[in-house]
Amino acid sequence: MPELPEVETVAQGLQKRALGRRITSVEVRHAGVIVGSPEGFVSGVEGGRLVAVGRKGKALALELAGGNAQPSRYLLVRLGMTGQLTVVPRAAPLEPHTHVRLALDAGEEELRFRDVRRFGRLRCCTRPEWEAVWSALGPDAQQVTEAEFRRAMHGRRGAIKSWLMNQKVIAGLGNIYADESLFVARIHPLAQPGRVSGKKARSLFRAVRKVLERAVALQGTSFRDYLDIEGRPGNFLPRLRVYQRTGEPCRRCGHEIRRMVIAGRSSHFCPHCQPRPRRAAKMRGTRPA
Ligand SMILES: [Zn+2]
Repeated sequence: MPELPEVETVAQGLQKRALGRRITSVEVRHAGVIVGSPEGFVSGVEGGRLVAVGRKGKALALELAGGNAQPSRYLLVRLGMTGQLTVVPRAAPLEPHTHVRLALDAGEEELRFRDVRRFGRLRCCTRPEWEAVWSALGPDAQQVTEAEFRRAMHGRRGAIKSWLMNQKVIAGLGNIYADESLFVARIHPLAQPGRVSGKKARSLFRAVRKVLERAVALQGTSFRDYLDIEGRPGNFLPRLRVYQRTGEPCRRCGHEIRRMVIAGRSSHFCPHCQPRPRRAAKMRGTRPA
């Protein structure tokens, strides 16, 4: 599932390949991925020129300037589980699960939205609507300050893993980078945010920064479906230290990486490097939000 580094890679690709270009025509092939009516989506997006690419957490917003002094529209993109945005020649063979095609400029290239699982969403909205979506998210995980981060931990009693993945608290982390950050900070996924020491809280804040920075530099992690705007996979996979490494030796201490399910999601950790605290969150009653 694309998380901050993957979405940031897509945002950078859009900036390089699509910024300044006009969307000349829109074809919706599967209406299920559009929020609102497909007709409204097409008329809102068609004719707009891409003037800015914004990202907050895992959400993308493409600002489209309308002609004739029309106010800007915002094309919001959620990649969901398996969404891909690619810029390809219009004549390129159409892959299965391509749901939306947006022709660019004279139509020799187009932006395609492909999504096997169909959890991704495209939505055309006004500035106030876009702002409402943005303000419902917590601070971006790359922008959040240490003070904000530690304040948000205060008094929280659930599992720190779920806390890290709550987009209203900090936006951008999902299962992969939450597991990796906890490993780097040597914190057990069932630790309680409000009970970790100040020193540990600082390590976690720094770990999140470091892990995201490295993953962005390597264009994210590709398990199955994630691809960048040119259709290339990310390169962070070999760098993963705990995620999906159950049973393999910890790269730091050699103990076996374990897996446990917290709030319905797999957590991967090293029981030696990340010892379970005496007052861990209860397994029952931990919730993702
Ligand atoms: Zn270890």
